[in-house]
Amino acid sequence: MTSALAPASIASHSPSFTETTPPRLRAASGATTLRGVRALVVLRHHDAAITARVKADVTTALGRDLTVDALTDAAERAHAALDDAGQRVIARGALTIACAAGCAYCCHVHADVTVPELLAITRHLDRTWSAARRGALRERLALQNERVQHLSDDARWAAKIPCALLDDAGRCSIHAARPLRCRAFHASSVEPCREAYEGDLDATPARMPRLDRAHDAAEAGYDAALTGAGVSAAAYRLEGGLLIALADPGAGARWVAGEDAFARARSPVA
Ligand code: SF4
Repeated sequence: MTSALAPASIASHSPSFTETTPPRLRAASGATTLRGVRALVVLRHHDAAITARVKADVTTALGRDLTVDALTDAAERAHAALDDAGQRVIARGALTIACAAGCAYCCHVHADVTVPELLAITRHLDRTWSAARRGALRERLALQNERVQHLSDDARWAAKIPCALLDDAGRCSIHAARPLRCRAFHASSVEPCREAYEGDLDATPARMPRLDRAHDAAEAGYDAALTGAGVSAAAYRLEGGLLIALADPGAGARWVAGEDAFARARSPVA
């Protein structure tokens, strides 16, 4: 997991969801066999290739002039690149993902985003939602922000407060533009997620280490492209950040110009 996006994310909102070293990596790092060492080296090469590919993609999208449009393009490119990296792992390993529309146990957390991702979500809303629907979302986000902005990750999770972007059927209403951290979360079985949601502190979502590694490597590439271009990859809370973006359409341009126009939504662990 990348440091800039690591924070209060779906993957770290409670002890039972805390990311751990992938079992295969643990085994390899403690192994004295040549096979174990080789497995680790191969995995590292694979991760590095993903990171390099995503970094190159995002850097190309950023271009030379750092504008709101360029940063938005870069975030969209990162979203597509992370999905692509994950799909390759899923196809190669014939993995089965249990996550499906309407299953939203993991959507009761402080989700984190970078500012370019907020710009990408705003573009998505501008292009696909009516003004009235965006206005209603803005009102919902304002109410939600009052409710959740002072809650710690654990308190938010314990309170079972759904993300304001969930629709009435429990589906992500911005699915096509959802943040990297949301895209990266996955499970091979619903049951442990449900048990964790219902308060079982021993329940651990059934993550897939190879998929986690691919997603983390993709996020690392995105972060590296941003920081390499002098753009902050700091984490902001999705609901608070999107509220600012919708209420203050000039915030993105001012952020690009150097003002932390999203400061009120800055993740406390960023
Ligand atoms: S943005 Fe979508 S996927 Fe992410 S927590 Fe909210 S509803 Fe879930």
